[in-house]
Amino acid sequence: MKRVKQLSENLINQIAAGEVIERPASVVKELIENSIDAGAYKIEIEISNECRNIRIADNGSGIHKDDLKLAFSRHATSKIYSQDDLWRISSLGFRGEALASISSVAKVSCLSRTADSAVGYKVICENSNIEISETGCSIGTIMDIKDLFYNVPARVKFLKKAQTEFAYIAETIESTALANPHVAITLIYKGNTVIKTSGNIDLKETISEIFSKELLNELFEVNKLDEPFKYYVNGYVSTPSYTRGNRKSYYVFINGRSVKCQFISKSIDNAYRDLIPSGRFPFVVINLSVPPNEIDVNAHPTKKEIRYANTNQVFGFIYAAIKQAVESGLRGTSNRLLPTSDDTFETLEKTENITFVKTFEPDYSQNSISFNFDSFKEKNSYQVEEVQAAVDFYKPIAEIVSPKEFYQFKETEIIEKPKIIGQFHNTYILIEESDGFSIIDQHIAHERTIYEQLKQKRQLASQLIISTQEIGLNYSDFSKLLDNKNLLADFGIEFEEIGNNKIILRKIPQILSNEPHDEIISSILEAMSHDIQSIENEILISISCKSAVKANEKLPIPQMERLIQDWQNTPNNQTCPHGRVISHKISLKEVAGYFGRFEK
Ligand code: ADP
Ligand code: MG
Repeated sequence: MKRVKQLSENLINQIAAGEVIERPASVVKELIENSIDAGAYKIEIEISNECRNIRIADNGSGIHKDDLKLAFSRHATSKIYSQDDLWRISSLGFRGEALASISSVAKVSCLSRTADSAVGYKVICENSNIEISETGCSIGTIMDIKDLFYNVPARVKFLKKAQTEFAYIAETIESTALANPHVAITLIYKGNTVIKTSGNIDLKETISEIFSKELLNELFEVNKLDEPFKYYVNGYVSTPSYTRGNRKSYYVFINGRSVKCQFISKSIDNAYRDLIPSGRFPFVVINLSVPPNEIDVNAHPTKKEIRYANTNQVFGFIYAAIKQAVESGLRGTSNRLLPTSDDTFETLEKTENITFVKTFEPDYSQNSISFNFDSFKEKNSYQVEEVQAAVDFYKPIAEIVSPKEFYQFKETEIIEKPKIIGQFHNTYILIEESDGFSIIDQHIAHERTIYEQLKQKRQLASQLIISTQEIGLNYSDFSKLLDNKNLLADFGIEFEEIGNNKIILRKIPQILSNEPHDEIISSILEAMSHDIQSIENEILISISCKSAVKANEKLPIPQMERLIQDWQNTPNNQTCPHGRVISHKISLKEVAGYFGRFEK
């Protein structure tokens, strides 16, 4: 065994960075949290050099001249001083390791000035060595990170394509902006403004700036106070008719901190149970305020996980708040449930007012993308004849067949008709067999059949469509689609970007011709959230799932016969592409046993 040695400070910081700074988005998260903790209400983030250069400018408190050096060393923070403070954390940061970690894996310079100082200071920090000099700058802080991971090549290898890394950054900014509607946040990438919020306190406005104005029509307001427990939740949730295919649009903040927490997701799921089909999820942005001593935020280095003193209480509170919001929203009544003379709420409101005072006029004259709808329309207006010509051109590949009939029989297949007993609950098909009967889930049986067909064909017949339906996306989803444009084209999906993160579908696979366009896109996006190796497969699965008959769909006997016959002739027909069991057999022996008959 070798002898024991003390590690150098830079190496200690790099080891810590391994945990905290996983990718460019982690740097952005840490720095933007620092800006918000410093009381900034205007933050501008600029990303370049394949996401390895990150510049964040804020108008927060700035760092005191005498603290500059300390701020870049490990375990140095202005946010907690004692053990007791650890149980009443109201800031986002408190571990005092972000700046030390970042400066051990990137070239960092920082300009900062506090309100009581006539001059600013510049800090240059490389390999944990720090130089400070005087300089002129405005009040606030600018952190300039260059060549992230320049000295840890192993980390660079793990980075994904710049566009993918940028999508993570955009997700971080979107979530931060939703948690902080009082902060004007601008994200610039390769010189273009891709996210811009106005910071005028109104969460609805932030939602429309990040997603789309149309989404606002689909939202109910959540606003509930639990006086004895001093819990307060506010935000917006979608109507049951606006759903997505995964829980990525659960934006949950606790005391301003973005959290991914299973039991909270569950309480949201439960509030919508019976209102939306299984496998669909609402859009949710909620901000929960709880007394800081009820949560332990020191559970994970990246502070994503939180421990709760009172899990059941929080679960029930969120469930009730959302359920009330949706129910009164559906009844068309106001869902403001705030008691008028309530001390706790007044305190919350007062603190909000203090934090949310807005004194600046944002200057967005530079670097923003301005989208001229008229010139777009001119360029893209389709003449009916042009479209018809295009449709004709595509006809040979796009024979119009009904989605449910597009697959064909093979010679080796079972041609005997299945004996259909009937359809149970409009979801399960019951078929008689010589030694019992089987219950088949119609949706997943059909899904497996289509999936196997698609896998064999690969080349999907697609058709040109004439649509004016604009699909508004948030930036991260939009860029994911752009990133995979060629791949999607292979699957017969083509779209056109029309600015402002909006797209219009131009071509879709024939078998999806009856599906709503926004649902096609949202399930494709869901498929793309899987790792790169399985993306293609996931897209096939999602196309199969979308085009298969649904649960709760009444089917005529001939269609059931056809579906079962095709499914019986499909390879791997015992489970759906995600592994769920498709059929369950109950033997004649078992049935007879119930009635005291003994079959041989
Ligand atoms: P933490 O946020 O956990 O305290 P950091 O390493 O992120 O640790 O930052 C160290 C300290 O530097 C902070 O406690 C804060 O005092 C100061 N600081 C960092 N960024 C800013 C900023 N943008 N504005 C003002 N102060 C900052
Ligand atoms: Mg910090």
